[in-house]
Parts: sequence; C-alpha cells; structure tokens
Amino acid sequence: MSEIEVTVPAAGKRSYKIQIGSGTIVELWPQLEKQYAHLQKLVVTDANLVDAGHLEKLLGENDVLTFVIDPPGEVSKNIGTVVSIIETMEKALLGRDTLIVALGGGTVGDIAGFAAAIFKRGIKVVHIPTTTVAQADSSVGGKTGVDSTVSKNAFGAFWQPAAVYIDVEALKTLDDRQYRAGLVESVKHSLIADSAYFGLLETNMPAILDRDSAVLKEIAYENCRIKAAVVAEDPMEMNKRRILNFGHTIGHAVESVSGFELLHGEAVAIGIVGAELIAQRLGLGSNERLDHIKAVLAKIDIPLEIPPGLAKRDLTNTMKCDKKAVGQRPKFVLLEDIGAALCRDGQWAHDVSTEIVEEVLDALY
Ligand code: NAD
Repeated sequence: MSEIEVTVPAAGKRSYKIQIGSGTIVELWPQLEKQYAHLQKLVVTDANLVDAGHLEKLLGENDVLTFVIDPPGEVSKNIGTVVSIIETMEKALLGRDTLIVALGGGTVGDIAGFAAAIFKRGIKVVHIPTTTVAQADSSVGGKTGVDSTVSKNAFGAFWQPAAVYIDVEALKTLDDRQYRAGLVESVKHSLIADSAYFGLLETNMPAILDRDSAVLKEIAYENCRIKAAVVAEDPMEMNKRRILNFGHTIGHAVESVSGFELLHGEAVAIGIVGAELIAQRLGLGSNERLDHIKAVLAKIDIPLEIPPGLAKRDLTNTMKCDKKAVGQRPKFVLLEDIGAALCRDGQWAHDVSTEIVEEVLDALY
C-alpha cells in the first residue's frame, strides 16, 4: 500500500492522506471504525455499486445506515438527491458528529461531498472512489457539487475530504467504455505535468487496459501526486489549478451539446486534440507532438472526432459559458510541451481568437 499526503494551504494547512492499495476495501471498515470511533456514519453509494458487490465488501456484516443513489449516474446528480441524503441523516438523528463515507464514482463523490459540505455547516467526508475518473481525479481536490436543470455543477462547494482510500481492484467490475473514457484524465495529468508519466502510460497501456493491479496502483499514485501538487498550490482555482481543465474547454462543450451521449473522458480526448490544434496554429505545437498524443489516446481506443450531428454554433455558444470564460470569451489551457502546461505572463489559461477556435472546431469533425 502506498500513501500520499495532500496539503491544502488555504484551509489552514489542513492535510489529508490518500491510501492506494489493491484488495484493501475489505479491510477498510474496521480501520474507519477505529479512526473515527467518535463519529456516527452514513455510507452513500449507488445501485450499481450494490449490484457489483462493493457495498457488501466494504461493510461485511456491519449494519450501517446507507443511502443508495438510484438511478446511478449524472441523472441523479441534483439538489433533490442532496436534500434526500440530508433528510435521511436528520430522520436518523445524526448530527455534526457524523462521517459520510462516499463509495462510488465521481457522481457519488460529488453528491456526497456536497451533502457533507452543507449539512449543519459541514461534516467530515471520506471518499472510496471506484471509477477511473474518480480514482484519477474527482476524489482528490475537494470540488463537490450537483447540477441544476440548466448547467453542470451549478451548486457546489470546495470541501476537502478527511481521507481518500483507493482500491484499484474496485475497477475490475467497471464497464469497459466507462473504464477507457476515465483513462483520458490520466493522459491529461501526464500532458500538463510530467512527460515521464506520459511515457509510462504509453508503454504500459496494454497492461492498463488489462486492468493489471500493479500498474493501476502505479498510475493511481502518479495521478494523485500530480493533482495533489496542483491543488496544494491553488486550492480555490484562482489560476494554476486551471491547468487541470486542459482539454475541457472544447471537451465540456462537446459533452454537453451531445446531451451527455459522449462520456466526459471521451469528450475531453477530443478537447485535448483541439487544444493541440490551437497550439499548432499559435506556433506552440508541432505535427509530431500532436501525432504522438493522438497515438497514445488511440491506444485507449476512443473516438477523437466531434460526432457529425453536433452543430458548430451550439459548441461555440456553449463555450461562452465555460467557467474559464471572461466576458463570454472562452480561455484555453495549452501545452508548452508534453509534460508542461503553458504559463504566459503569470496566466495558465489563454485567450484564443474566435477565428482560430472556429477553424479548429472545423478540423475536429
Ligand atoms: P459515475 O459516478 O456516474 O460512474 C459511472 C458509472 O459507473 C455509474 O453508472 C456507476 O454506477 C458505475 N460504477 C461506478 N463504479 C463502479 C464499479 N466499480 N463497478 C461497476 N460500476 C461502477 O461517473 P464517473 O465517470 O465516475 O464520474 C463522472 C462525474 O464526476 C461527473 O459528474 C463529473 O462532473 C464528476 N467529476 C468531478 C470532479 C471533481 O473534481 N469533483 C472531477 C472530474 C469529474
């Protein structure tokens, strides 16, 4: 088992541990009972995690209050689910001395984390992430939130977990398309921060796709190390943390205009290629670099083109609402090189002319 410490300076130098192991979930409950003996507990999970046997693995014979999100996924990532979780705690007479244990993917973590952030002005939460997205990205960094009927993550809070427990064995029951799409966040981390990690992903992709536990532990460690370092520097996303949005300006637009037919990681892969095409047009990239990145993404076997049914006008309009946009002008995270995000004049997200953005969108169909 390996461990990483995440320090969040803005929260009074608070820090938390990320434990990474294989087959560790079955040993976790006694550890939580011991460490948080003074707290009541609520487990939040979803129906697929129950069906796949993960809740049973976590709890064993222990009888613990559990909230099961059903239906699973983005469709339940709304304020109604948060209200139901909070009312479940109230009805069970749970108070501020409660620990929420979030067992699941990014949607469970975001919902449960947000419920923890707002219940009686904040209670402790620990994450047990079970998808490639959640183990690489969403469980670390303290962003929580749910969607409104208009936009994603409209309600949200920064709420750092008390700890994160990664068991790479949990990934073995994940659907193949979800599994592959989530790997794009790992490629993103390598591209913005560490060329050696990019090489590791490139070399080990067959073992990663075979869900080899030893390699999965290694990449979980690299992802958490990179994300933790960025979050520690800029926990509230005032500037540098924006590099974690590499590929997300076009990616979010494609995901949203597709009506979430494309998975997040699939859309981000298209966005990464888009960001590289922008870099080329600004004289910051090269054909060779683009081909290298595309070759690694192609190993994951996901489409790298915008589906023809998505209208360019809808994509450009959606990009105007991107959270990095200023005055409805979207900003883009770009690469200096593989393993290094571009910083110019102290800024990590960059203005790009409308002409270049439109040209790049055309090239992505
Ligand atoms: P998800 O939680 O919906 O999981 C995807 C599907 O896999 C669901 O149907 C789920 O029930 C199922 N599942 C989860 N673990 C499983 C397992 N081990 N075995 C079998 N089935 C399993 O989605 P996700 O892809 O994990 O996360 C996407 C969400 O994460 C989005 O809402 C996104 O906005 C959010 N996100 C948040 C952050 C953050 O920093 N907070 C970062 C990235 C993404």
